[in-house]
Amino acid sequence: MFYTLKEKHPIPFFLSACRRLEGKGKKENDSIERIGKMADSAYLSKIAGPVVEATSIRGSQINELVRVGSDQLMGEIVALKEDRATIQVYEDTSGLRPGEKVERTEQPLSVELGPGLLSGIFDGIQRPLDRIKEMAGDYIPRGIDVPALNRKKKWTFKASVKKGDSVKAGDVLGTVKEFDFEHRILVPYGFEGAVSDVRDGEFTVTQSIASVGKKDVTMMQKWGVRTPRKSKEKLRIDRPLITGKRIVDTFFPIAKGGVAAIPGPFGSGKTVTQQDLAKYADADLIVYVGCGERGNEMTDVLFEFPKLLDPKNKKPLMNRTVLIANTSNMPVAAREASIYTGITIAEYYRDMGYDVALMADSTSRWAEAMREISGRMEEMPGEEGYPAYLAKRLAEFYERAGRVRCLGTKDRFGSVSVIGAVSPPGGDISEPVSQSTLRVTKVFWALDADLSRRRHYPAIHWLKSYSLYLDDLEKWYLENVASDFYQIRGQCMALLQKEAELQNIVQLIGPDALPDKERLVLEVTKMIREDFLQQNSFEEIDVYSSLKKQHLMLKTILKFYDKAEQALKMDVTLDRVLLAKERQVIAGLKRLKDEETVKAANGAMKSLETSFGKGEKK
Ligand code: ADP
Repeated sequence: MFYTLKEKHPIPFFLSACRRLEGKGKKENDSIERIGKMADSAYLSKIAGPVVEATSIRGSQINELVRVGSDQLMGEIVALKEDRATIQVYEDTSGLRPGEKVERTEQPLSVELGPGLLSGIFDGIQRPLDRIKEMAGDYIPRGIDVPALNRKKKWTFKASVKKGDSVKAGDVLGTVKEFDFEHRILVPYGFEGAVSDVRDGEFTVTQSIASVGKKDVTMMQKWGVRTPRKSKEKLRIDRPLITGKRIVDTFFPIAKGGVAAIPGPFGSGKTVTQQDLAKYADADLIVYVGCGERGNEMTDVLFEFPKLLDPKNKKPLMNRTVLIANTSNMPVAAREASIYTGITIAEYYRDMGYDVALMADSTSRWAEAMREISGRMEEMPGEEGYPAYLAKRLAEFYERAGRVRCLGTKDRFGSVSVIGAVSPPGGDISEPVSQSTLRVTKVFWALDADLSRRRHYPAIHWLKSYSLYLDDLEKWYLENVASDFYQIRGQCMALLQKEAELQNIVQLIGPDALPDKERLVLEVTKMIREDFLQQNSFEEIDVYSSLKKQHLMLKTILKFYDKAEQALKMDVTLDRVLLAKERQVIAGLKRLKDEETVKAANGAMKSLETSFGKGEKK
């Protein structure tokens, strides 16, 4: 539905009122200007779905938060032209009428940061869904205003500074225990000076816990979501975010502070992969943004996440997770807000010196929202109707990932790693969202519908995926895992590529036409695929492999290959080579615990070395 002031209200009531007030001969624009001044608030002149236009708004800025209509819906100014503001509204706009009031807040769209975020489930504009449910039931009433952080709950604050200490932004003032997590309360940005008052005790998030440079500090801070939080320095990428997923850690690693894209056609294992990453990645905290996915998928997340246990301590995973849930039946504009809310919360924990992993599922839905809003704003469309600034927006979001030296006197390091799911229609990644995402992300885990149909999980395709962090991480892997890690990885990758070439030939002339040497390659790559790359998320041991185990598994497979090749040269038949008992051991390694893997793998390698192929003749 598209209303304009002209169509629906040829002489809007406030204009006619204005004319009466101002006398004859005044121009229409002039009148609007005056009524604006009188009422000091603007009025709705046009409503187009989630995009509305307000007239006679003055002194405001792009990205200012406004309250729209009598229900006080949350909106954000996205364009300004003279006294007309275009506003994207984060709540359902049906029923709004031209002439309703628009109030300025003189603040950007902001999030509340402080104790109480962990284990929280928020919507795109950081309203706590559980507390809304308590207040209003299953449906979110429009314009409901519930603060993100509970104002009544008291937290035990333990000061780490004392009166007289000199502090600056980013220094740790004290800590609060939230579950098992040490929530560090930092001197907010813009504060500096001597601590004139600080005490241990029980405080709510809005009570003063200290006084710095004569200004009161509370545990809660507010931060505009579109402004990246400050840090001293962005650091070079140099260590992996270990996930325990063999194909990820060994073949396509993501770095701490890195960015990865994961395109997920339906049923390809996107949800399982992301839950595994949330559970097992060596991040201290997880921020999960469910951005406009189909309602039932988000419901799955909302039901599933609270049930998941942290494998490290068997306590609820939610104790170190913040969920932002924004389903497709929520207004489209809120999708964008949810992405920015999520990344700002992630940066907040990064600033405390933690490693945070943010998962956004799915950035395609956000891009679709941008397309819709841009269309409503009658902007010039770019490729496939997406706005021309699509790539820039996506890049700005992913650029907020990184490993940083945090603000503050003492050195502290933190990181935000971002894993963005993309859902290209029909799995075709030539479309603009996938392409713009690929340009800014450095890791691409290509979930493949064909592999998932064959129940090869995780369905990340080894020939279609890549990681551009390999060079940055090489030193770390060689020093911390094994000096031949990259060599083994390279050898296996080369074999997998060779397999693809051989498969083409096999399709034409059948496997029997290949010489034994090449049939052996196919057998070995089958071992790499089935015994290494396939990893069952529902098996307790298999779901997570340490890097040492990953290395040993591949090393044993390559040992078999080496010895089998030698045996073939000594005229042993391939069929006999394939009967080797060591192959059984290799196939079983994934189900063994670390210590058992070492024993079994070393045993297999030893017997391959000493006895394999001996005495066998064609
Ligand atoms: P998507 O979210 O992409 O629609 P899911 O993550 O729900 O797909 O995966 C679909 C199904 O595939 C799961 O229910 C599960 O049976 C299977 N699956 C996916 N990944 C794995 C895995 N790593 N290990 C075992 N099964 C898996």
